[in-house]
Amino acid sequence: MLRTVFKMSSAHSTWSKLTQSLPEHLAERVRVLQDSISETRVPMDHALPLAASGTHVVCWLHHAVRAHENPTLDVARLAAATLGLPLIVYQGLGGRHRFNSDRHHTFILEGAVEFATELRVLDPSIRYVFNLQRDPAATSPLSQLCARAALIVTEDFPAPPFPRWTKQLAARCGRPIWLVDSACVVPMRLVVGEHLGAFRFRGKTEKLFKARAGLSWPEVRAAVPNASNIELGFVPLDWDQVDIPSICASCLVDHSVAPVGHTRGGSRAGYERWEAFKVKGLKNYNKARNRAEIDREAFAVSRLSAYIHHGHVSPLRVVREAWGLFKTGFGEGVEKYIDEIWVWRELAHHLCFLYPDLLESIDIIPKWAKTTLHLHKDDPRDVKSWEALARGRAGDPLWDAAQRSLLAHGELHNNVRMTWGKAIVGWSDSPRRAQQMLIDLNHRFALDGNNPNSYGGLLWCLGVLDRPFEGVDASVTGCLRPRPLQQHAARMDLGKYSKSMNATSWSRKLRVAVVGGGMAGMAAARTLADQNVEVVVFDKARSPGGRMSTRRQDELWFDHGAQYFTAKDQRFERLVESWVHDGVAGPWRGRIGQMNAVGSIVDRSDERARYVGIPGMNAVVRHLAETLGGQSEVRSGVRVNAAQFADGRWSPTDEQNAALGMFDAMIVALPAPQAADLLIDSPNLRDLALSVRMRPCWSAMVSFDARVPIDFDGVFLNMEAVLDSAPLSWVARDSSKPKRPSRETWVLHASPSWSEMNIERDKAEVAHQLLKAFFEVLKIPAVPTITLEAHRWRFANTGQQANGECLFDRERLLAVCGDWTHGGRVEGAYLSGVAAAGSVLGEVVRRARERP
Ligand code: FAD
Repeated sequence: MLRTVFKMSSAHSTWSKLTQSLPEHLAERVRVLQDSISETRVPMDHALPLAASGTHVVCWLHHAVRAHENPTLDVARLAAATLGLPLIVYQGLGGRHRFNSDRHHTFILEGAVEFATELRVLDPSIRYVFNLQRDPAATSPLSQLCARAALIVTEDFPAPPFPRWTKQLAARCGRPIWLVDSACVVPMRLVVGEHLGAFRFRGKTEKLFKARAGLSWPEVRAAVPNASNIELGFVPLDWDQVDIPSICASCLVDHSVAPVGHTRGGSRAGYERWEAFKVKGLKNYNKARNRAEIDREAFAVSRLSAYIHHGHVSPLRVVREAWGLFKTGFGEGVEKYIDEIWVWRELAHHLCFLYPDLLESIDIIPKWAKTTLHLHKDDPRDVKSWEALARGRAGDPLWDAAQRSLLAHGELHNNVRMTWGKAIVGWSDSPRRAQQMLIDLNHRFALDGNNPNSYGGLLWCLGVLDRPFEGVDASVTGCLRPRPLQQHAARMDLGKYSKSMNATSWSRKLRVAVVGGGMAGMAAARTLADQNVEVVVFDKARSPGGRMSTRRQDELWFDHGAQYFTAKDQRFERLVESWVHDGVAGPWRGRIGQMNAVGSIVDRSDERARYVGIPGMNAVVRHLAETLGGQSEVRSGVRVNAAQFADGRWSPTDEQNAALGMFDAMIVALPAPQAADLLIDSPNLRDLALSVRMRPCWSAMVSFDARVPIDFDGVFLNMEAVLDSAPLSWVARDSSKPKRPSRETWVLHASPSWSEMNIERDKAEVAHQLLKAFFEVLKIPAVPTITLEAHRWRFANTGQQANGECLFDRERLLAVCGDWTHGGRVEGAYLSGVAAAGSVLGEVVRRARERP
């Protein structure tokens, strides 16, 4: 195979040809990143370096994903054509981006599918490769691909983590990178100096803006060699096989953040929205833009930001068309719109361009703001947990509606966003925490999150790009410009606004049955309820909890199932942090050991943080049930005996064969053998459930009238291998957990094998045998007991795990979850429940998209 390889010997002449080949409208947008340390902002009349050799040019796109009016792509095409090298357009998704979710993945993939077609039509020789990294821990193949490139061209996108990632890429592949501003009318590098307030920014950029706003975007003509034979080093996404909901389900991302029904990714949907805004809203934009309650479809605002953020829509084209209307005397609406998209939008880009490394640091906050916040640092305040905020449960009607707009609709009206953000400052224990919370809540949920504009707006809440507000010295926020929630609520139709935020994003009701009210079922139910789905949870027990139940005995209580939980996955971790903040859970600081083969106990206390529910393990599941939300309910004491699927709906029935209602979807959150009974109408999932073996566990609960003389509060007794007669696998001083009764209580768990062998034995007999083993194995004198009881868990745990986080039957809208589908522990149960809800939501949104 004959392949063109660019060599250094030809570098100089090719290079000057290359730099000269860039027309001025592109040349002014380019700067060069040499390696991780040095960064030059050279004008294009200086020679721009390129690598000594290479087989291709890489164009890495992430926020300008379109084949039209795309400065980055145009520069890459011209460069590749001049060098005579093939062009590979690379896009990656997954990896370690902290806010990856079904929502962001769906929007990005929808845009990518359209881009693939658009690019193919533009030039079939260009190869567009999309790397989907399902496992966040996997390393990106981009640096390998770039290490063999003569030149790398990417966007000059100034918001984290991209400036850092780009520098890392330069360091790893040892090649220069061209950065091309593809988002601003006035390229960021042309606005020199310190960051400016809006007034000065307008003055400084007015001429530059006006000279460019109305210019049409010249088409690039550049013939590049075919890139199909370039070795990639990874398998790119196959565009003929793209099934977006299944892709999302297969990625380890946050499945609780569902795709947004009314906002489909891609250029087509983006420009349709722009056209609708031009017709319906632009004329009155100056008057209506602050009225958040106006119906989405009335377009008081453009709602384009997600499309512009991901580059599905060209901001250059939007400005040019708005400018054209302005010039024809369209009125004050378009004038105001241009002012927003120029001054406020590009000012925020410029801020990020100047301080890319400071945007998430408290050092970005101006001195006056830091001083006033510091002076008020000890003011009493109502600090809210992440969970209360994220779910729109802070207790203020406007704020909660605003957050629900983010949570369920992926967008937040700009004017409300300012009031929303200021409130967070007042509910945080430090400016640092406020900054983190603002970024988290915005970027996680908003489809336009992580945009330079987001940073501009969020940091404004902390005084950035603002000034001290004279005459105000409020508690906590000092002289920061105030935006009281009540005042804002008084000037809008809050009832109307809240109502639309409490509807689903796909505008249809959805009713889901969740069978099983343990950790998995409740996690699924709450995830659905957060997207305004009506959920009914059925559980056969008296109250939710499942294997995280707590057994009461008069004034005593015992965690007779799950003993504690750990949080290794950050999707669970941040919730656990909230539960600790809200007093629902807490760390168990008991001394934990493991008995070894010779009978001595090795300390394992420090190996990981262990958490328990407070005051009992069931508190966590109960908390999930109690915070489900208005339209949903938990029906305890109902055993679901069967479930039929007919005419696209599910109808579960109870033990008396009574109908329990009709549902659009069903989630079965039971141990595998119990789940199988309800899966008759979905034979594949039933077979999978039947293939999982769940093992039993006998649990004894005992209270003593004196302290048991042992220095450990929990001991793993994996003794089976050495001593057949030893039935125990774990013992724990239950009373050592936080907020437990003061009397000495212990829980003793039998090993799976012993439990299996003794499964049908009498409870009292088992309890005595386990107590006897307890004293024997730990070699301690018997302590008199006050109470002694045993509980049989028929399906306690499993070492097996299904492939994926949950099981899903797309055709029947049926998901199956539980610890056995994801790791066999509390954390896995939670994640599997969220994944099950995510699968249902992904499919529902897909169907909504397909509806005419
Ligand atoms: P479950 O909690 O079993 O929930 C299923 C629910 O379905 C139950 O509430 C049940 O009442 C209900 N149900 C069943 N059939 C029906 C029906 N037909 N109709 C209606 N409702 C029905 N994990 C850890 O992380 N750390 C530990 O230390 C730990 N220790 C454990 C010790 C023991 C003895 C046991 C039993 C488990 C332990 N686990 C531990 C595992 C942990 O408890 C589970 O992983 C987790 O609680 C499973 O949650 P789930 O929602 O998947 O299932």
